[in-house]
Amino acid sequence: MRASHRDDADVIVVGAGPAGASTAHWCASAGLDVLLLDKAAFPRDKVCGDGLTPRAVAELARMGVDTRADDGWIRNEGLRVVAGSRSWELAWPELTTYPGYGMARSRMSLDHRLVQHAQASGAKLVDRTRVAGALTDDRTGRVVGVTAQPLDGRGRADGPAATYRAPVVVAADGVSSRFATTLGITRRDDRPMGTAVRTYFRTEGTSRHEDAFMESHLELWDGAPGESNLLPGYGWIFALGDGTANVGLGSVSSTPARQSAVGHDYRALMDAWMRNTPTEWGFTEENQVGPVRGAALPMGFNRSPMYSDGTLLVGDSAGMVSPFNGEGIAYALQAGRVAAEAIAQARTKVSDDARERTLATYSDRMRDDLGGYYTLGRWFVRLIEHPAVMRACVRYGLPRRVVMQFVLKLLSDCYEPRGGDWVDRVIAGLTRVVPRA
Ligand SMILES: Cc1cc2nc3c(=O)[nH]c(=O)nc-3n(C[C@H](O)[C@H](O)[C@H](O)COP(=O)(O)OP(=O)(O)OC[C@H]3O[C@@H](n4cnc5c(N)ncnc54)[C@H](O)[C@@H]3O)c2cc1C
Repeated sequence: MRASHRDDADVIVVGAGPAGASTAHWCASAGLDVLLLDKAAFPRDKVCGDGLTPRAVAELARMGVDTRADDGWIRNEGLRVVAGSRSWELAWPELTTYPGYGMARSRMSLDHRLVQHAQASGAKLVDRTRVAGALTDDRTGRVVGVTAQPLDGRGRADGPAATYRAPVVVAADGVSSRFATTLGITRRDDRPMGTAVRTYFRTEGTSRHEDAFMESHLELWDGAPGESNLLPGYGWIFALGDGTANVGLGSVSSTPARQSAVGHDYRALMDAWMRNTPTEWGFTEENQVGPVRGAALPMGFNRSPMYSDGTLLVGDSAGMVSPFNGEGIAYALQAGRVAAEAIAQARTKVSDDARERTLATYSDRMRDDLGGYYTLGRWFVRLIEHPAVMRACVRYGLPRRVVMQFVLKLLSDCYEPRGGDWVDRVIAGLTRVVPRA
């Protein structure tokens, strides 16, 4: 897998979101020549809730990303769960594996930081470059590079197409992953799919400024509150510490077909929610920054294989969003780290066969770590998509502190994988006994 004299790099990473930036950082830190290609120029926006659980913060710490408060990083202490007029504040658990705090940072700024971090580690960024497809070896069918189109500032083709060659290509190009699709690696139709929308509100001078808790609203009604169905999802308000809050909502279905069939008008749901918020929160048209924008959340490993013929899929391109809470940044960062380890180790192999087996350890490791958890997540979605179950969870589960402590650890994937208290042991045990996704 050594780069040949015709190669432009040891590794090409397609897409410079959290998954791509993490892959590029870890590969460059292992001494590999890395080309990181993105169709956008950074900073660029990405539709997201901008929330970072302790699991995501742990990945940032591993990467050595500087997250000092005076550099615009805001910490939160836990999760406030709101259902109707009642609310519960749950502190993030104190664990050895994860920090006792979460964070929030706009993706405009977070992703730029991560790309700069990868560059500082030695990765070379080629922005405004849309990857069009794979270069494959005629004899082996292996991916040996990419074809790409340079773009101007308005996203139009600018100059002739280019090719970049490398012995390994990492697809980190997000939920649609054109790269994986052109290789025939399509989405599975038996995995959960979410849809979510979000916007920003200025919070200065309002009661929502600098909230120490991430807030989630569990009562999302598909019609008049109390008289219609509770949706399997939640609304969120995450204070970003820059004078704005990210406000959004989303729901999930057990399959993409069901998600299309329910066909909720998320913008209308968002409008209805905003109209019913207290005036002191200031969620008014005048305070809104930017439009309501939405995107899909691919969950539970919804694209596989994660490794084949020289290509690894990381982050949303492999559908790594958690079915439990819609979080994808932590898993994108983790996937980049695990992929880089496999790529660096594969370079030490002298035979093609050993190299291929080493690259394939990437998918085994991801499935070992998350496969059981994602299976539980799929079952969870199948349950809560029944309005009666969702209603029972909200009515009977929320008022019980011990249930909520369990739910917080389970839904945020923040529990001790080994040892810990009985809650940690139950969750870890369950993830080990169920089949891996
Ligand atoms: C409304 C909403 C709210 C969410 N809230 C949260 C949250 O609060 N916390 C959380 O953890 N997760 C959240 N998620 C999920 C999270 O946004 C994703 O899981 C995460 O962005 C995945 O990172 P990624 O690097 O895999 O993909 P992306 O962040 O999508 O990055 C993909 C990159 O690839 C580039 N690209 C795409 N195609 C090409 C191409 N052909 N050539 C070159 N470059 C290309 C794009 O420009 C982009 O930079 C939310 C998602 C949505 C939709």
